[in-house]
Amino acid sequence: MNNSIEQLREFHWMMDMLQNIDVGLVVLNEDNEIQLWNSFMENHSGVIANDTRNRNIFELFPEIDQKWFQHKVESVFQLKIRAFSIWEQRPYIFKFKNYRPITGIAELMYQNISIFPILSTTGEVDNICIIVYDVTDVATNRSALKTANLQLEKLSRTDKLTNLNNRGYWQECQEFEFKKFSRYQQTISLVIFDIDHFKQVNDTYGHQAGDEVIRECAKTLVECAREQDICGRYGGEEFVALLSETDIDGAFKFSERLREKLEKLTIVYDGLEINFTVSLGICQLTTDIASAKDWLENSDKALYRSKENGRNKTTRHE
Ligand code: GH3
Ligand code: MG
Ligand code: MG
Repeated sequence: MNNSIEQLREFHWMMDMLQNIDVGLVVLNEDNEIQLWNSFMENHSGVIANDTRNRNIFELFPEIDQKWFQHKVESVFQLKIRAFSIWEQRPYIFKFKNYRPITGIAELMYQNISIFPILSTTGEVDNICIIVYDVTDVATNRSALKTANLQLEKLSRTDKLTNLNNRGYWQECQEFEFKKFSRYQQTISLVIFDIDHFKQVNDTYGHQAGDEVIRECAKTLVECAREQDICGRYGGEEFVALLSETDIDGAFKFSERLREKLEKLTIVYDGLEINFTVSLGICQLTTDIASAKDWLENSDKALYRSKENGRNKTTRHE
């Protein structure tokens, strides 16, 4: 007598624990009918245990990918081994709303799932147990970190004043394009340009006005370039662009269009009108150019010939 009361008490204690544990517990039979549904599952699904009893899980929760789930469960039944699903591969199995105030960013609960066989006394697997872990905190922290890292990465590549690629990153791109050329000989040209008499702009209108000129110049460069071209701020008032699928004639046309556009541009700063010109140098990449550095140097030499020959012009590297 005492013994059976003891057993009953133990059973109630077990049931109590299963009910109130902070993970989801679901028991399914071989026909995918729900045999157990604890309070975690009740709370998050809004479906009470009584309404789940002997109901097919796919009918109640159509969001479950039946083919994928069945495949997982088969191995549990047949091989009597555990199966898992992690949020990185599949964010959730049950589409539960995320109510946690701290992780308010996530709309849905991220879940890890563990499925294991329940062996009968004869060693058969008649039922399986699914444990659902709420891993929303981990998942949102991880994705917040990923977003922050991406932002940092972008920041480290970007010039603050103009939002163009900065010198370091642009040079990486140039190296990459050079290496690509060694293999595939794709047509590509480099443009470098420098604002003429920029010291005078600073001296006449002030450094802030000079900054505005640099910003507007960058904006015009981006407007003239195509999406696949890689523009950068190489130095103070020096800019560069890698023009993909563009030969020297194409680069010349591009440069002249840019030069004329900048020549016509009037920047108004503090009520004062500022006009300026630029000098450009261009070089198409060819097999006789030994390095990315030489390619840039060729372009730079062409730019200096533009300066020597009176500025406000484009010179090709021959
Ligand atoms: P040139 O036609 O030969 O190029 O003459 P320049 O006056 O432009 O000569 P140089 O290229 O040597 O001078 C560049 C000047 O640009 C010097 C520097 O004070 C100024 N500068 C460099 N970076 C910045 C910047 O970020 N903002 C401003 N406002 N000025 C800058
Ligand atoms: Mg200059
Ligand atoms: Mg300069």
